[in-house]
Amino acid sequence: MSKTTRTIELRHPDHYHPGSKERLVSRGLLCNYCSGNGFFWGSDEYGHHTKCECPVCKGSGEVDALITIEWTPGRKEGSNGA
Ligand SMILES: [Zn+2]
Repeated sequence: MSKTTRTIELRHPDHYHPGSKERLVSRGLLCNYCSGNGFFWGSDEYGHHTKCECPVCKGSGEVDALITIEWTPGRKEGSNGA
């Protein structure tokens, strides 16, 4: 099965201050839960086939990734008091 991969390239901000946050949005990723269909076939109380909306993507077949990156000062290995 084919697969789409998205990569985030991290680059520290030009105007850094402790606690700086960046927000990224990656839109339109295929919903894995319903395989992009947006719904599942289910049965209603009379046993009829009925479409059930996907609870993850709410019927759109796609999901958006909201990514928050928080920048903090670095800590070198072995320099935390040991
Ligand atoms: Zn879905």
